[in-house]
Amino acid sequence: MEYIEPLKILIYNNRAIKGTDAEGFGGFCECNGTLIQKTWHEANSVKILIAECEKCWETEALVFSGSKLIERRKVKTIKRKDIREFLSEKLSESELEAILNKAKGFDYNYSSFSRARKKLEKIGIDVGEILKELILTPK
Ligand SMILES: [Zn+2]
Repeated sequence: MEYIEPLKILIYNNRAIKGTDAEGFGGFCECNGTLIQKTWHEANSVKILIAECEKCWETEALVFSGSKLIERRKVKTIKRKDIREFLSEKLSESELEAILNKAKGFDYNYSSFSRARKKLEKIGIDVGEILKELILTPK
């Protein structure tokens, strides 16, 4: 599982699920630190809590079926500075280049951009939101 922190999006079974804000106690981490709730995500029959440990800063996904915890797993957190790398895993080089160029306001290859947009849409990610984050990324 991957969690795109600035967009509050969880990638679960290759689908992006937008979360709703949460706060408060979220259980205990393996390190005995306290987990703090970040967001809740709903997928089919399960609800997934994303929580961050305030001691080791690891992020965990706690998967619930009803009120029963059925699974917990470490999650890879993608911060704003990591979005480029995340995209490079999902898109071809020319598609990534088109997105980066568009974000910078440069000329970009329209068909590569359109392919990238479709690939992201297929996962459930809006390219407009990605562009906003890239524009805010320094460099
Ligand atoms: Zn911890």
